[in-house]
Amino acid sequence: MSGCNHKYMEHGRCWVDGCSYCAHETKFNGVCVACSHVDEAEWQQAKQKEKDDLKKLRSDRKLSLIIDLDNTLMHATSVYDVAEWISKQKRSTVNKSRVQELFTTANANNYSFKLRPGLYSFLTHISTMYELHVYTMGNTAYARTFLDRIDPHRNLFKGKILTRDGNGCILKKKMSRLYPTNRTQVLILDDSANVWDDSPNLIQIKTYTYFRNVKELNALSCAAPIRNQYYSFVNSYTSSNQSTSFHHQEDGFDLDNGDADFVVPALPPPSPPVEDFSNQFSISSTYCTKQPDIFLDKNIADIIPEEKETDDALAHIGKVLKDIHSIYFSQLACNKEPDVVDILQSLCTEKRSATLRRKRSASSTEPDFIQSKKCSSICRSSSSTTLTIP
Ligand SMILES: [Zn+2]
Ligand SMILES: [Zn+2]
Ligand SMILES: [Zn+2]
Repeated sequence: MSGCNHKYMEHGRCWVDGCSYCAHETKFNGVCVACSHVDEAEWQQAKQKEKDDLKKLRSDRKLSLIIDLDNTLMHATSVYDVAEWISKQKRSTVNKSRVQELFTTANANNYSFKLRPGLYSFLTHISTMYELHVYTMGNTAYARTFLDRIDPHRNLFKGKILTRDGNGCILKKKMSRLYPTNRTQVLILDDSANVWDDSPNLIQIKTYTYFRNVKELNALSCAAPIRNQYYSFVNSYTSSNQSTSFHHQEDGFDLDNGDADFVVPALPPPSPPVEDFSNQFSISSTYCTKQPDIFLDKNIADIIPEEKETDDALAHIGKVLKDIHSIYFSQLACNKEPDVVDILQSLCTEKRSATLRRKRSASSTEPDFIQSKKCSSICRSSSSTTLTIP
C-alpha cells in the first residue's frame, strides 16, 4: 500500500490493513517467519545443506530427534528456597540420595532442576540411534545451563540448540528452523503438542512435573492442551512384535539400572562437582549432619514431594524410538524409501488393533483412544513426497 507510514510494525512486518511491507527480520532457512517471503538463494543453499546432512546421518545409521527440555527431560523451578535446600542436602552426608537427580545453578537465576527418572539411561541409549537436537522455549542461557550440567562435553547432544532467542515472532516450534523440507528422517519429542500444531512427527511424552505448587517456567500457551492421538500408546509402549525380528532385546530402557549417579559417561574429564552452589551459604556441614530433618521448612515440604517417583515415561518412549529406528533401517536395507511418520503410525495402529482385539474379547469397555488409519505392513513402501536422498 503506497502512502503507508508503517505505524504498526511488529517483528519486522507492518500490520496495517492492505500493507504488505516486511523487513524479513527473522528467516528460517531463507523463509521469513512473518510473511513467508522466500529468499531464493538462501533457500537453495539450505536445501543443499539439508541434503548433505541427511545423507551423512543415514550413513551413520542415525535418525534425527528434536527434544524439548521443560517437562520432557526435566522439571525446573526458580524458587530460591529450593535451590538453597538442594545445596544443603548435597553437602549433607545423610540425605544425598534424595537429591541425586536434583541440581541447582550458581547463576543469578537460581534455577533448580529435577531430572526425569531414567534420563541418563534414555539419553545414552538413544544417542546411539539419533542425532539429538534441543528445541526449547527457554532462552539460550537457560538451555546451556541445563546441558552443561547433564552433558558438558556434548557427547549426547551433538546437534543444534534451538531456543526462544532466534525464534522470531512465533510462539510455535517449527521443524523448518532445523530442516527446510525433510520430514521423513526426523522425530520430535515434546510434552506439548500445541507448540508443534500437533505435527505428525511428534511423539508426545507425558508432562513431567516434580516440584509442586510452583509456577511453570517457559510456559507459553493458555490454550487447552492438545493430546496427540498416539499419546496413550507411546507412553505405555512396550515393544513391537514386528520389530523383534530386526534386533534382539537388550536390557535397553530399564530404569533400575544405570541411573545411579548421572555421571556423564565419557572420555573427556568428568563433569564439574554438583556442589558449586554450596559455598554461597554459611550453613556448615556439621550443622547439616546434626539435623536429620530433610526439609528446611514447611514451604519446602509443599514443593518437594516425599513419596517415591513412579514416572517411567522415558523407558516407554525409548522403546518406541528404538523400534522406529530399527524398522527404518531395515526398510532402507530392502531398498524402500522409509518415512518415520509412516513407521510411527503403523507401529501405533498395529499395536492398537491388537490391544483392541484383546480388550474387546476381555470386556465391553470402550477403548480410550481413537481408531485411525490402518497400515497393512511395516515393511511396505512409503509414499513419501518430501525429500528423497539419491
Ligand atoms: Zn505499512
Ligand atoms: Zn517478511
Ligand atoms: Zn515442554
